Amino acid sequence: MLELTAILKEHGLKVTPQRLSIFKMLRNTCIHPSAETIYKALQEEHPTMSLATVYKTLDTFVQHGLVQQLNLGEDSYRYDADTSEHSHVQCINCKSVVDLPPLKHISDLRDEVHESTGFALSHEQLYFYGTCVKCQNANHS
Ligand code: ZN
Ligand code: MN
Repeated sequence: MLELTAILKEHGLKVTPQRLSIFKMLRNTCIHPSAETIYKALQEEHPTMSLATVYKTLDTFVQHGLVQQLNLGEDSYRYDADTSEHSHVQCINCKSVVDLPPLKHISDLRDEVHESTGFALSHEQLYFYGTCVKCQNANHS
């Protein structure tokens, strides 16, 4: 918790118990939660915290580069405390979002995009969609 407090302070952010809890949850999860998921998960710990506060806090974190926002085409964004460049795959059934290891052919893809558009690429955000192993197995039983 001390380390997380220090990180928030380093970014010039006022440290509140609510901010700290949201940051802690994001740093300790791999489920890429939405604001609503975070709100529900922390309701017991912070019964007076509003969903608007969660949104505002997440916006602040994104602006300071502490978390990244993922747009998977759902109604709401997902949030990831791993701010390194990495791609994701989402299950179209249970909506789970999973990290992908560095993609072997990413430089070929970049070359292809550059060649076809002339763009000098800065970065990319790739999303893959399908059915996760759990859901595949559930459908077979
Ligand atoms: Zn699934
Ligand atoms: Mn991720």
